Amino acid sequence: MALEPCTEVPAINTQKINTDLAVLKERGQREVFCGLTGIVWLHRKMQDAFFLVVGSRTCAHLIQSAAGVMIFAEPRFGTAILGERDLAGLADANEELDRVVDQLLERRPDIGTLFLVGSCPSEVIKLDLAKASERLNQRFFPKVRILNYSGSGIETTFTQGEDACLGSMVPVLPHSQDEPSLMVVGSLADVVEDQFQRLFDKLGIPVSFFPPRRAAKLPPIGKGTKLLLAQPFLSDTVRSLISRGATLLPSPYPFGIEGTTAWLKTAADAWNVDKEKFEEAIAPQVNRAKIALERYRQVLTGRKAFLFPDSQLEIPLARFLSRECGMELVEVGTPYIDRLLMDSEINLLPVGTALSEGQDVEKQLDRCREARPDITVCGLGLANPLEAEGMATKWSIELVFSPIHGYDQAADLAELFARPLERRRRLTV
Ligand code: SF4
Repeated sequence: MALEPCTEVPAINTQKINTDLAVLKERGQREVFCGLTGIVWLHRKMQDAFFLVVGSRTCAHLIQSAAGVMIFAEPRFGTAILGERDLAGLADANEELDRVVDQLLERRPDIGTLFLVGSCPSEVIKLDLAKASERLNQRFFPKVRILNYSGSGIETTFTQGEDACLGSMVPVLPHSQDEPSLMVVGSLADVVEDQFQRLFDKLGIPVSFFPPRRAAKLPPIGKGTKLLLAQPFLSDTVRSLISRGATLLPSPYPFGIEGTTAWLKTAADAWNVDKEKFEEAIAPQVNRAKIALERYRQVLTGRKAFLFPDSQLEIPLARFLSRECGMELVEVGTPYIDRLLMDSEINLLPVGTALSEGQDVEKQLDRCREARPDITVCGLGLANPLEAEGMATKWSIELVFSPIHGYDQAADLAELFARPLERRRRLTV
């Protein structure tokens, strides 16, 4: 355990950097998902894509448990299970993979883009999925485009799976004619995307969303593209997009009323939208959101929150909980801090907020028990044991699977934290 300055000071950042920031950096046992879990929300977003995990039965079990009931509804993901013969090098894993892909594409003519998703076992036996997609593209492109990325636990943590997936699409984005346009980066629930589309239309800003709803309809990119991030965990994707000529608009993330306003204002300023037009466009939604949020603010205000590292959403959520819900932050843990993507948020946290990066789970649990927070945000593996110790918990995975961005979702987001407190109150006799 060591107290060190925050890592990854960005090379490209126009914002003031909080150089005094001290972060507790820990390396030890971790309680997190691997990047394969990203498939659960990505396959819902891109409706013509299929995700084929090249992995073991463990990987298949993971996806099935994370996706829950969805496995029964003709899903657009599956696992090509590496058998003992593949792992022992007795079978030609490439031939086997080609055979599985043949069968799959024959059975499912609706697939437009096929992602080959690497896992720990495929990496350990050094199965080259980049070569495999090249080979398969020669046979199936343009009817089907084959891409590949790694979702393995060795390389990725939870939401980094989305970063890796989007990163694999960047090289195939069409080149724009460099005209100015806005690209919102990070998967959003369709209903939220529609709300944002309407707001950008009102502001007169031409916008595209990445990932798109159909993987075959990729948004163009070029020197005129300005990037506005909807999700804070897209470090590699953003850097790849910048290397294709785009410019990043640093901004807080659209969580809560304040975050959403700051996010939209960043885009509005880049398009020189005047103040009155901006205020007029957002006013009805802001007013509605304020009324809806008030109820939960009353439940949450003055309560102590402790966030375990999980999705990289922790810092923006902590900012929302503290500034809009009046909560006190005991510790804000996050798996990884990328200053390029996070400075706008860190600058909004109360001075002296205890930030931690990485994890040594036993030590973190000790700190949590000592602080006795009113609510602990953590993964499923820790939630029930902590509940049994008398602590109220919020499962962090729900924050990734639920629509929480934008004005209309601000109260729903607060409710996710208020609900466990309310449940405890009701169950206490
Ligand atoms: S990719 Fe690795 S960590 Fe993820 S389920 Fe498969 S074996 Fe486990």
